[in-house]
Amino acid sequence: MKKGFHSQLNSRGYRLTQQRQAILNELRQADHHLTAREIYTAVRRYLPQISLGTVYRNLDVLEQLVLIKKFEHRGLFRYDADIQDHYHLFCQYCDRIEDIPKSQLGDLESHFNWETDFQISHYQLDFHGSCVACQKNRADQERA
Ligand SMILES: [Zn+2]
Ligand SMILES: [Zn+2]
Repeated sequence: MKKGFHSQLNSRGYRLTQQRQAILNELRQADHHLTAREIYTAVRRYLPQISLGTVYRNLDVLEQLVLIKKFEHRGLFRYDADIQDHYHLFCQYCDRIEDIPKSQLGDLESHFNWETDFQISHYQLDFHGSCVACQKNRADQERA
């Protein structure tokens, strides 16, 4: 296929869009919070040309567009396609991270009487504990 200037631009733009879309799809389909490397491995199955650097760059763009969120856990950045306010439950024994909708906790902000002039734009609240599978494993181990 012959490539003119125009079609080159188009194909470049399309490729970028396609990569970004693929990354977003992977995140939305995943039932957990993926790392950039996990996204890279998944997307490479059908976009074999993609590099880890490109995945990082596209993740940055998606984050700037507020289509995804990023958080750090155990020294690794994980990405979240759920951009609604929610909290995370981190299992101390495995890598499991579960979501708790904000609504299940009620309006936390109203529980605090902020006697401060500090203007709070956002806050982070993490819960740590033991997931159901790890509770079971540990119970089994104690029984053995
Ligand atoms: Zn666990
Ligand atoms: Zn989440």
